[in-house]
Amino acid sequence: MRFFSLDAGFDMFEVKIRADFSAAHNLREVGGKCESLHGHNFVVEVAVQSESLDEGGMVIDFRLLKSKTREVLDSLDHKYLNELSFFQNINPSSENLAVYIFGELAKRIDQGARRVSWVSVWESETSRAIYRRP
Ligand SMILES: [Zn+2]
Repeated sequence: MRFFSLDAGFDMFEVKIRADFSAAHNLREVGGKCESLHGHNFVVEVAVQSESLDEGGMVIDFRLLKSKTREVLDSLDHKYLNELSFFQNINPSSENLAVYIFGELAKRIDQGARRVSWVSVWESETSRAIYRRP
């Protein structure tokens, strides 16, 4: 038995890690000070879910999840986000950053029952955006 089931057929596991990156952006056509070039130390949380566990009793090895997340965040770290191809025509808002990070991670992590469930992007201590799959 790979895991202890409390409710066979209705189990759901979720693991979550946190990482960060720093980048500059400016938001187009929103008015106010966000239109000016400025930077954030973004904090990113990534949650991965599965209805079952692997041979090791895990949803995904934390080290693997952290290294895949680092790979994606390195493509954003210390960049001017507006210049990246993904953000040529859409605003690099925290919401759209969450979508981008989610999509890149899903390519690397989704496998069998295991899938990225949500990504959150904190742009300050008190403000965050979340993208989740229904
Ligand atoms: Zn900003």
